[in-house]
Amino acid sequence: MKIDILTLFPEAFAPLKTSILGRAEKDEILKFNIVNIRDFSKDKHKKCDDYPFGGSAGMLMMVQPLYDAIKSVYKRGSKIIFPSPIGQKFSVPVAQKLSKCKHLIFVCGHYEGVDERIFELFPIQQISIGDYVLTGGELPAMVIIDTVARFIDGVISKDSLTSESFSNGLLEEPQYTRPQEFMGLKVPDVLISGNHAEVEKWRKEKRLERTKALRKDLLNTK
Ligand code: SAM
Repeated sequence: MKIDILTLFPEAFAPLKTSILGRAEKDEILKFNIVNIRDFSKDKHKKCDDYPFGGSAGMLMMVQPLYDAIKSVYKRGSKIIFPSPIGQKFSVPVAQKLSKCKHLIFVCGHYEGVDERIFELFPIQQISIGDYVLTGGELPAMVIIDTVARFIDGVISKDSLTSESFSNGLLEEPQYTRPQEFMGLKVPDVLISGNHAEVEKWRKEKRLERTKALRKDLLNTK
């Protein structure tokens, strides 16, 4: 999958080069291209924001640099995403759908947001990562990219996906690694019993128990 990221702050995307996403790029499963929107400004000082008409707080990203930046990477079949508090709530099904795309373009807003006309010039899907407001679209874009990447073949093992929180409408069970005892706290006996059927039964019970205790809402939507 090719992912173009349009931003005024390219340096914010350094985390994409690390860990699992960095490896996926080295393995050519993902290809990231960070585009500086400022490079498309026609202003002699490379200005990309201005005061909103009608007079309200803060600055808005101007439509011209945004339009030219999107045009430079947009092709037929590209999916453009604008992370935004007013967008569709991000979720596992939304991430799974996006993981099937060949080309994603993320447009990162900043300041008070962007000139509304950009949504009339391109088909843009707005996605919210939650009911709160961040200072820019860079972190939400990375949250969405990271989540989507996990559903692309080869990025992580398939087993991880099926046992993870939300995969069956449940939260994950508690997990343990070595040592078997730490400061008097022991790993549950069943996990070191070698009885796979019993381990699986315990895991299912714990998933349900935890979901009931922490996220009853997940059980009601099943
Ligand atoms: N004035 C906007 C509003 O009230 O809806 C908020 C602008 S916010 C300060 C700047 C940018 O951060 C937004 O344009 C968007 O790209 C991004 N952003 C902020 N909160 C977000 C959220 N919850 N989900 C996705 N993107 C968000």
